[in-house]
Amino acid sequence: MIYLDHAATTPIAPEARAAMEPYYNRRYGNASTPYEFGKKSREAVETARCTIADTLQVQPSEIYFTSGGTESDNWALKATMEAYSSYGRHMITTKIEHHAIGNTCGYLRKKGFEVTELPVDRDGRISMEQLERAIRPDTVLISVMCANNEIGTIQDMKAIGEIAKRHGVLFHTDAVQAYGQIPIDIEGWNVHMLSASSHKFYGPKGCGFLYMKQGLRTESLIHGGAQESGRRAGTENVPGIVGMAKAAEISCARMEETAAREQYLRDRMIHHICTGIPGAYLVGSLTHRLPGNLNICFQGIEASNLVLLLDEEGICVSAGSACNSASPEPSHVLKAVGLSDAQAFSCIRITLGRETTAAELQYTLMALKRLVKILKKG
Ligand code: PLP
Repeated sequence: MIYLDHAATTPIAPEARAAMEPYYNRRYGNASTPYEFGKKSREAVETARCTIADTLQVQPSEIYFTSGGTESDNWALKATMEAYSSYGRHMITTKIEHHAIGNTCGYLRKKGFEVTELPVDRDGRISMEQLERAIRPDTVLISVMCANNEIGTIQDMKAIGEIAKRHGVLFHTDAVQAYGQIPIDIEGWNVHMLSASSHKFYGPKGCGFLYMKQGLRTESLIHGGAQESGRRAGTENVPGIVGMAKAAEISCARMEETAAREQYLRDRMIHHICTGIPGAYLVGSLTHRLPGNLNICFQGIEASNLVLLLDEEGICVSAGSACNSASPEPSHVLKAVGLSDAQAFSCIRITLGRETTAAELQYTLMALKRLVKILKKG
């Protein structure tokens, strides 16, 4: 199998799996219990919190463990809008967010909040002028994803943070696709909240975190016990948290080297596809792009058929995002960057990982050339 869908999920790093193993077997104590056996689990959770905090250069007390990116996004938006509703009921986001943000905004609208969705240009970037113009006296929050999951576009986080700061507005970023892939500068970007998900950076599934700046009044999303300083109830997923921290440590330590390698392979692949397959072109930005992301439009073919044929050859890629693959609607991201419905249905996403080899890409390129030709004839 050739796995080229790392934006959907990544394989778990062997080191992360090894670090988790004792917490499934010998060290299964509940981290909230007072005896030594439980205290060992507590220690593991707190060590993991420090590891993750170090990768972002923030305080461990500002890291809250969650069940993944979706929960972190829900928490950041719902609980913040509720907590600050006496100041205002308006927030700003973009038209290309993941559904974890988009559908949460839909829920907030039903609850009487107002949400402005900023358009993006052909590269998938928002305009700072439009952002500034969208801010109102009752704006509480700006939520802009750091990097997009379909086309890999990286936003100008520093500029967004400066605008948020100047207007006294909170700034949340969905960094699910960015964390562990590109450098994150919480302080320089003036970020108040940041969502991340373990399975996107070679950690286990069902685990993530929300960075929340000290002093924020954000309410709890999940009520119950006193875990996570009383802000996120539920018995801690100790093995998951330990594995996530190990994966975070490795991904952040190897980030520069991995990014350089992926970007080199990606750019060669883009070149070969776009020059070797008639009608194929890159969607999104080349410069402001995640190192391992390619999104290619193969004009005149149905991407879903191409994905199936590639699957038969043992190659995993996706048409759109994994969470959307069952949807009959064209991708909202591809529509937002100006593609027609037909063009949007002709795009495939190829996302490289740190184990991806040049030989795998060469094999994929050959398969693409052959299959696109067959589909065009058919
Ligand atoms: N946000 C983005 C940008 C994503 O790509 C994803 C998952 O694909 C999520 C949020 C949801 O994360 P999780 O799968 O951990 O719930």
